[in-house]
Amino acid sequence: MLDVQLIRKNFPVLGQMVYKKPLVYFDNGATTQKPKQVIETLTNLYAEQNSSVHRAVHYLSSQITERYEAARMVVKDFIHAEKMQEVIFTAGTTASINLLAFSFGEAFINPDDEILISEMEHHSNIVPWQLLAKRKGAKLKVIPINEMGELRMDKLEKLLNGKTKLLALTHVSNAIGTINPVKEIIQKAHAKNIPVLLDGAQAIQHGNVDVHDLDCDFYAFSGHKVYGPNGIGVLYGKEKWLEKMPPYQGGGDMISSVSFENTTFADLPLKFEAGTANYPAAIALAEGLNYVSSIGRSDIAVYEKKLLTYATEKFERIDGLKIYGNSPDKISTISFLLEGIHPQDIGLVLDKLGIAVRSGNHCAQPLMKSFGIEGTVRASLCFYNTEEEIDLLCEGLEKIKQMFA
Ligand code: PMP
Repeated sequence: MLDVQLIRKNFPVLGQMVYKKPLVYFDNGATTQKPKQVIETLTNLYAEQNSSVHRAVHYLSSQITERYEAARMVVKDFIHAEKMQEVIFTAGTTASINLLAFSFGEAFINPDDEILISEMEHHSNIVPWQLLAKRKGAKLKVIPINEMGELRMDKLEKLLNGKTKLLALTHVSNAIGTINPVKEIIQKAHAKNIPVLLDGAQAIQHGNVDVHDLDCDFYAFSGHKVYGPNGIGVLYGKEKWLEKMPPYQGGGDMISSVSFENTTFADLPLKFEAGTANYPAAIALAEGLNYVSSIGRSDIAVYEKKLLTYATEKFERIDGLKIYGNSPDKISTISFLLEGIHPQDIGLVLDKLGIAVRSGNHCAQPLMKSFGIEGTVRASLCFYNTEEEIDLLCEGLEKIKQMFA
């Protein structure tokens, strides 16, 4: 079992008071808080080691280069990639997906091709594909969901067809928490030679991610959602695809040689890392991932499942509360509405009680539309949250009901 009180001491933000109430942070789906290890890594790096990566022969630069490449190895092991060439540092999930949409799109998407996404995607896994489809005269197809907030597997079969060039799917829904049966889906797609990108922005903080076992072709995630710093993320890609894809951005670090007539490119992964890398964030991300590993991802998953069950049972006892997303396979994220009360009002009142939740469409407007609503309130819990905090949230919701009665 996790020693949650000990873990909480490691997250300085969590100890504070908000409006004279102890902070309850339930917005982990948007961004997670940072453990001391990550904060101290960043501070110490800037204080003692700062120097440009991959550039100079001097002491500091070679130290930073070593640490940057060691961070890549930590990521590789964390997601069970086979080779460090398959791990590209980006600015985050959005940057990873845009890289892929541009580069894969240049190489493999032609007029009338189809790109398949789902109804539960974050805007980051919709808009880049829409832009690509417009550029190339291709079509965007959408796997619908059922009323539980699960993918319609019966529809998926038909949508994967000879024209489909890529399936871009969220591993876990940020808005309603559904964990998609991605391994099974990847097998179905591969049976038709269709590569698969998983948007892992939400999955990465909630359990084991094994790209080798999943056999996905691409995997994208953000550092700030897995206890790491902002401004860093990862695009994993199988080497066989990355080798065939053209660079996304041109500049320093991504070249082998440059003349005015021609440029040859660096080998993987640097081919896709133009410009001075965000090495402090990459190095601090590795610290964050090591910290998560030291707690144990299986233990984290078990604890968070317990929190989810506790919260769901308590929510179900609140009259007029409706949960959106009822798949039995869910991360510890609960999206809900209170009858007759605008989600924004719920969020504002909870804030005054020191409770941070997210209200709105969660960058998933098409998903909200499919439920016939504009938005929800989302409580996204993680391993530093407690049952006592869930009790405070439920008390807050009862208060809100009385206020708006
Ligand atoms: N996809 C999903 C499922 C997400 O939850 C998010 C962040 N809310 C993103 C993509 C985008 O991540 P980022 O803003 O860190 O690029």
